Amino acid sequence: MMDVATEEIVDARSGDPKARAAPVACIDLDRFCGNCGYNLRTLPVCRDNHTGIPVVRCTECGRFQSANDASTALRPWLDRLTLFLLGGWVLFLVAVFAHLCLAEGAVSYANLDELTEHEGSSIRRIGNTTIRGWVNASAPLEVTTEYPEYEFFIASILFGSFMIAFTCGLFAVIAMPHWHRAAYAGLMLAMPVIAGVVVAVLWKYDAPHLFLWGMPYIAAHAGAQLLGGLAGIAFGRPLGRLAVRVFLPPSVRPRVAFIWLAAGQPVPRSRVDPRPAAANATAGR
Ligand SMILES: [Zn+2]
Repeated sequence: MMDVATEEIVDARSGDPKARAAPVACIDLDRFCGNCGYNLRTLPVCRDNHTGIPVVRCTECGRFQSANDASTALRPWLDRLTLFLLGGWVLFLVAVFAHLCLAEGAVSYANLDELTEHEGSSIRRIGNTTIRGWVNASAPLEVTTEYPEYEFFIASILFGSFMIAFTCGLFAVIAMPHWHRAAYAGLMLAMPVIAGVVVAVLWKYDAPHLFLWGMPYIAAHAGAQLLGGLAGIAFGRPLGRLAVRVFLPPSVRPRVAFIWLAAGQPVPRSRVDPRPAAANATAGR
């Protein structure tokens, strides 16, 4: 189907290989070489002088192929399926960030709850089942004095906050590579603020006499979450690229080329070939 020869496109009149047609466009989405699977994104599209058909040359294996493959009866159905899947992807992203925001609030509230004494015990009864509550059933009465391992507890739970937000930042820069840096930072700021405000309102309702005592903890968690989110933005893509290198063989790396392209780096090579080492050295860093 796309079995075009690998010779240079030559000028039809002069027959000179150097008089190749100028690029008319470039591939601006993930397209894969029919021969070797290399991601053709960013490669120039030229018009074949004999036929006028736009073609792209794979820089990996040298094969020419049509730059346009919207030609089969299956195509309209694939487009519809794509639309459906894109809708599902948007809902998935919204759900992920909503749950991570919820987790940021939950860890902050759990901190307040853990440091306070409750009326009765922290054991919750539902019917005949006894559950030792993660969040206590009854309202907080007073702050626990002489909490064992206080520093260790605070350090651990703040680190938990940091890591939840780090996951957010990492996920954002990889799942939404089209955003600007400022937009990621805005999201990483908005999530702890929303979580913190919700926790403050809940805490005000649950323990109004301990509201002011709780505020520094809520603020500390929001701060840890902001730092975690910013660290996730900074290290998300390098970690993503490392994970791709560790877990995926070279042949499928072009499928996730966007992690490189989003950072303005060359698409990784899909296999090792005897091309000059200089070209190898710059690829896929
Ligand atoms: Zn190829």
